[in-house]
Amino acid sequence: MNFAPDFKTPSSQDESALWFILDNGRLLTKINTNHFCIPNTADLGDLNIGPSNVLYIGSLDGKPCYAGALETGSFSDANFELRNLRTLFGLIPDELIWFGGRANQLIYWSLTHRYCGKCGHETLDKADERAKLCPQCQHVNYPRLSPAVIVAIIKNNQILLARNRRFKLPFYSVLAGFVEPGESLEECVKREIKEEVGITVRNIRYFGSQPWPFPDSLMIAFVADYAAGKVVVDRSEIIEATWFSKNNLPKIPPKISIARQLIDWFSQL
Ligand SMILES: [Zn+2]
Repeated sequence: MNFAPDFKTPSSQDESALWFILDNGRLLTKINTNHFCIPNTADLGDLNIGPSNVLYIGSLDGKPCYAGALETGSFSDANFELRNLRTLFGLIPDELIWFGGRANQLIYWSLTHRYCGKCGHETLDKADERAKLCPQCQHVNYPRLSPAVIVAIIKNNQILLARNRRFKLPFYSVLAGFVEPGESLEECVKREIKEEVGITVRNIRYFGSQPWPFPDSLMIAFVADYAAGKVVVDRSEIIEATWFSKNNLPKIPPKISIARQLIDWFSQL
């Protein structure tokens, strides 16, 4: 699939245009003989829903793509379903889920920036870039990103994996945390690890990154070596943290996440 991001709405309508319609993180999908797809302009006409906050997000294999928020909140048509984006992994191509994630991120930003944070006036979409402009005080808001670090800590051929209180299922993963203002990514890695499991690390190196648009994170992954300290979990976020060797890994996150890519990297050392 070839995706070309853009923000300038095409002048002409296209019946084949794809619509990524979001409702609180859920994506509107069409069910075609047991498989899910992204509805096009004609499908939306059948469903009779008027999306709000419509944003052009680019083209996919030449088809225009729009993001919008579901205005009605509900509809009754068995051929359509609102699905949590993450439950669609494995059911539609991964690329479409990431485009849906991009749409989710932009719609979430658009809905939460309808009014100027500085003077309270209603904002407008800026004409020459993806941003919200306040016509009253000229304050500009760009789509929000919340960067977070995610770290694989290695000690003597073992990896530290933890169970987070927020995980719905009992699986173990690498440690992660949001970057704070004024902090470098490396400082964030050290602080998060110290706070969550009480140890220090050294030799922090970059691994890769992944957008995590549920609704607006960017994951920046690192690998680090254990330096000193005894693992003591903070109990507020982390309820258990243990060193695992590659031959006795517990239940770990699904393939799609960079957390899993870090663990798979460790498994192949
Ligand atoms: Zn303003």
